[in-house]
Amino acid sequence: MSFAMHLTNEFQKALNACNSYRQQIQGDTEFLIYRLNSSNRSMGNLFSMAHQTPMRTGFGGIKEAVKGKAKNNRITRPHRHQGGGHAEEIFLRSMHKFESVSKVEMFISLIPCDRSSAMQINLDNEDVFVPSGCGAKLKFLAERYPNISWEICYERIYDGNTGQRTHQYMIKLSTFHNANVYRYNAGSISSISSPV
Ligand SMILES: [Zn+2]
Repeated sequence: MSFAMHLTNEFQKALNACNSYRQQIQGDTEFLIYRLNSSNRSMGNLFSMAHQTPMRTGFGGIKEAVKGKAKNNRITRPHRHQGGGHAEEIFLRSMHKFESVSKVEMFISLIPCDRSSAMQINLDNEDVFVPSGCGAKLKFLAERYPNISWEICYERIYDGNTGQRTHQYMIKLSTFHNANVYRYNAGSISSISSPV
């Protein structure tokens, strides 16, 4: 397996800290812990924030986005700036800060959603449309950066139809040549294509 971040003390500390913070604020905030190129020194975490327009927020300056509704990946009703967003979106809008990355390990406290808004951002000096849903946004990243190996691991899941739809997205992502997807459960991980 190419995902080994969960075996490090640094990750366990970050996970405990993020879980305690979520408990303290008593919101339904989700978070993401990432590590680049298997280096613990690069480990960081991002929390979901309320979507607010217009607002430009944190973490050393994330790229602003134009927000809208997705129809065939088009922005049909643009708003000016999207601030905040789900942890995956904030990661995506921070891509310009990462250089020479060949591998991203990403732990997400909840399976990527299928409903966050579509948006337009400027990546590598090009305006690009990013589809609705965080699962689709991770798929976009894997396609956009084929030389990065994407190791995605999530913990909790949704029930019912949303559970089915979000799971299908992760299955699709796991078929990419440069992506692997895992489920985290009580300290160990399993590949999602194997029976849970
Ligand atoms: Zn989301």
